[in-house]
Amino acid sequence: MKTKAAIVYEYKKPMVVDEIELEGPREKEVLVQFKAAGLCHTDLSIINGVIRMPPPPCIPGHEGTGIVQEVGPGVTRVKPGDHVILMWVPICGECYYCLRGQPYLCVNRDKGRSGVMLDGTCRLKKGNQYIRKMVGIGSFSEYNVVNEESVLPIDPDIPFDVASIVGCAVITGVGAVLNTAKVKQGSSVAIVGVGGVGLNVVQGSVLANATKIIAIDILDNKLAFAKQLGATHVINASKEDPVEKVKEITGGIGVDYAFEALGRSETVLTTFKLIRRGGRAVIVGISDMDDKLTLPVYEIPLLEKSILGCYYGSANVKVELITLLDLYKTGRLKLDQLITNRYSLEQINKGFEDMESGKNARGVIIY
Ligand SMILES: [Zn+2]
Ligand SMILES: [Zn+2]
Repeated sequence: MKTKAAIVYEYKKPMVVDEIELEGPREKEVLVQFKAAGLCHTDLSIINGVIRMPPPPCIPGHEGTGIVQEVGPGVTRVKPGDHVILMWVPICGECYYCLRGQPYLCVNRDKGRSGVMLDGTCRLKKGNQYIRKMVGIGSFSEYNVVNEESVLPIDPDIPFDVASIVGCAVITGVGAVLNTAKVKQGSSVAIVGVGGVGLNVVQGSVLANATKIIAIDILDNKLAFAKQLGATHVINASKEDPVEKVKEITGGIGVDYAFEALGRSETVLTTFKLIRRGGRAVIVGISDMDDKLTLPVYEIPLLEKSILGCYYGSANVKVELITLLDLYKTGRLKLDQLITNRYSLEQINKGFEDMESGKNARGVIIY
């Protein structure tokens, strides 16, 4: 069949929206008709070549929801007509990591990241050229074939656009707070960078009953989003020194937990400086693969400062995606407010321009 998709042919160039050939699902694979796809900063990293997995030509897009159209032989988890959310680790459930409750580290994720199906082949082609897709999903395509392990059925009442952003920004941000840092009630929290993920660190901190939630960014409109979602303090780092200001807010101590949601060595260092003795710094942002950092190492034992990495919200993904959608239904998680702009697939490059200029909390492609 044919599908229309946004393709990265060359780094740092606009994506090309083109019609390409899509082969149907093989064994344990599923054909999904996408209904919505969130625009995430990690997609931009693929477009710009900051992350070079998968190599071009490839289709980005790892936040997505849609409807199962067809299933290959042996598929048992979903059937045609099911509404599904896409997971960017095709969780096997049986490997060393899955068995230890860390499905986000599943061995399958490396195959997903290289842009091929779990059997190592591609389903997308333009002429004779195979086209890879980001983390085994490639949601910037009207249709795509994915592994059965990448889809999770959801309640058909939930709007597709809202559910799509839960798949990355929300589970990562909220999970960083509840799973990675394990923020305790009454804590102080600082968030460096309040884009799609950082805003959900704010929301997660509200769910954890943190009492000081300090949002740090260089754009006032993003800080305004953070306030709407529950930040108690905001700091514009282009006007004030965030480390000094956080000291002032916390009576000279520093915060219990700080989160870095940008993926840059300078802001990771800032995040490390924001935490108190015994505090935890959680790194969520994915940096350039060549970015290196120099740290005051003695502070790690002397001040008992911890640095924790967070991937996919350190989440029990299949359970927590559903929990997050339930929290949305009961009004405890604000998702409608997070979607600031909707685009057609043809407008996708405009969507990323808006992201880069800081206009969006989250932009979403609607098919
Ligand atoms: Zn993402
Ligand atoms: Zn596994």
